Amino acid sequence: MMTIQTASPQQTYELAKRAAQLIKGGVVFCLKGDLGAGKTLFVQGLADGLQAREEVTSPTFSIMNIYQGKFTIVHFDLYRLESAEELEDIGFYEYSQQEDAVVLIEWPDKFWEELPEDYLLFSIERGKSSEERLIGVASRGGKYDDFMEELRGIC
Ligand code: ADP
Ligand code: MG
Repeated sequence: MMTIQTASPQQTYELAKRAAQLIKGGVVFCLKGDLGAGKTLFVQGLADGLQAREEVTSPTFSIMNIYQGKFTIVHFDLYRLESAEELEDIGFYEYSQQEDAVVLIEWPDKFWEELPEDYLLFSIERGKSSEERLIGVASRGGKYDDFMEELRGIC
């Protein structure tokens, strides 16, 4: 577990962009945090770091977006989903098990039971000032322990 502090949207964006440089193949990142915490902004920085050209939008209404960069990026927002059956319908299980995709999941807390075994969990919370964020990073399952240590190294 580690905590990173950012003082502005730009800093969160740059952090995600730097994290993208550590990605060497398929990964699963879960992004937890209230509405407006900065989950989608983090995805935007990450996609930029992976040289995705498409505009990254909040998929709250589309539920899933796919971008093509250095790797295929699959961006989920589970906010509006209610059941595992709906996850099945949108292909969540297939996509989240794809070995070579960068899978980014907003609102993982809606479906703790349905997530892949291994993922890196980013928990974004507001700090004291309006532009401060505390970003907790935890490796769940173990597969991304090394990734987290590399991330620690660049923070
Ligand atoms: P979410 O996807 O978590 O609902 P968004 O990424 O869409 O949130 O929006 C985050 C909002 O918070 C943006 O308007 C952004 O400018 C603002 N913000 C302010 N400070 C920060 C920060 N340090 N990191 C990320 N976003 C921040
Ligand atoms: Mg969002």
